[in-house]
Amino acid sequence: MLTTVVIGGGPAGMMAAINASQKYKTILIEKNEKLGKKLYITGKGRCNITNSKDISEFFNYIPGNPNFLYSALYTFTNENTIDFFEKLGVKFKIERGDRVFPLSDKSSDIISALQKSLKQNNVDIMLNTSVSKFICNKNRIIGVELKNGEILKADFFILCTGGMSYPQTGSSGDGYKFAKDLGHTITDITPALVPIEINEEWVKNLQGLSLKNIELKILKNNRVICEDFGEMLFTHFGISGPIVLSMSREVGKQKKLRAVIDLKPAISRNELDKRIQKDFKKYINKDFKNSLDDLLPRKLIDTVIMLSKIDPNKKVNLIKKEERIDLVDLLKGLPLTIKGCRPIDEAIVTSGGINTKEIDPSTMRSKIIDNLYFAGEIIDVDAFTGGFNIQIALSTGYLAGISLIEL
Ligand SMILES: Cc1cc2nc3c(=O)[nH]c(=O)nc-3n(C[C@H](O)[C@H](O)[C@H](O)COP(=O)(O)OP(=O)(O)OC[C@H]3O[C@@H](n4cnc5c(N)ncnc54)[C@H](O)[C@@H]3O)c2cc1C
Repeated sequence: MLTTVVIGGGPAGMMAAINASQKYKTILIEKNEKLGKKLYITGKGRCNITNSKDISEFFNYIPGNPNFLYSALYTFTNENTIDFFEKLGVKFKIERGDRVFPLSDKSSDIISALQKSLKQNNVDIMLNTSVSKFICNKNRIIGVELKNGEILKADFFILCTGGMSYPQTGSSGDGYKFAKDLGHTITDITPALVPIEINEEWVKNLQGLSLKNIELKILKNNRVICEDFGEMLFTHFGISGPIVLSMSREVGKQKKLRAVIDLKPAISRNELDKRIQKDFKKYINKDFKNSLDDLLPRKLIDTVIMLSKIDPNKKVNLIKKEERIDLVDLLKGLPLTIKGCRPIDEAIVTSGGINTKEIDPSTMRSKIIDNLYFAGEIIDVDAFTGGFNIQIALSTGYLAGISLIEL
């Protein structure tokens, strides 16, 4: 019987091993003491495993090489994922943004289900086992060398070692080195879905403040490179929250960027000016510092006052029109200069990886090495939050596994 070795026991590797085992003796190698260490912490321990939107919509949520994933996502869809796990006893619920979670809110239920399936399919699991290199003869791999020096020979190999983010979970980029040694190119590795560091000291004062319904724009040389509307959060180093995470992959790839926050995107400058005039009338005898309570969250007021350069103790009825117009401009474009992204260690996913041009998208097979397949985050693909990244890992893992058994 021919043998397949799968390297990496994340969602991609486990799914690949389950499917390869339908025809071949299959060995799953994982360097940690247990499988799915990253999977365990996903969705804050609840595992947002997929999304219930129509599969055709998934591509709108995948900024990193969506077209490459067409076959994988249509071969093993979100519905297939739910069906697969339901057959293994997991029940699901759908939350805001069509995010799918196990009903139990426990990522461990997803890992247990995968382990159950691995067992049912007689996959040999080698834990605490790290692959250190591939042994190759021309364009075929003969075996892998393990850290203890042992050589494991096999007929097929599926490389699923993940990206570079959260390396403490095991994904420390080993696979990129192996693939490079085998002749593959690795595109630039940058963090995605990661908070952004800001130069301005005043953001520290806003730590913990969450702003809903704002618009964030990121600019380079006064040209908007990305913009989004929604929720963001100030932290001790800068900004985070849903729209910041989504935009961070652009920040990770460029330098000298700035950002502006429109605190009142639903209304025009003119309307905002009228609104401020109304508030100023209401608080006519108050100091400027006591006139913004109806307009802004408490925590933001001191910062806006400081940036407006209007004397906080100035009586509202003494504020000049030009000062008021500057205040409108400030509220429609709170300026931030971007230092960069937080390190890749803190990113939810890695942008970049094995060049998709070197992988057959209909099988996940390497175009360089005959008996090598790839699956999961190691490939240069990445998606926004919402369950899309795990679905990509499962779909590419499935496709790699079944492509092998169709040989
Ligand atoms: C905090 C956090 C929360 C997240 N939440 C979500 C979420 O809710 N929904 C979602 O869709 N995505 C989420 N993601 C992203 C998602 O977890 C990943 O995209 C997904 O785990 C990738 O799967 P993978 O199998 O390709 O890689 P991984 O899950 O990283 O698995 C790779 C495995 O390979 C092993 N390995 C590496 N090198 C070797 C070696 N040399 N020898 C042997 N084994 C090796 C590693 O130990 C690891 O277990 C989250 C990520 C993080 C960091």
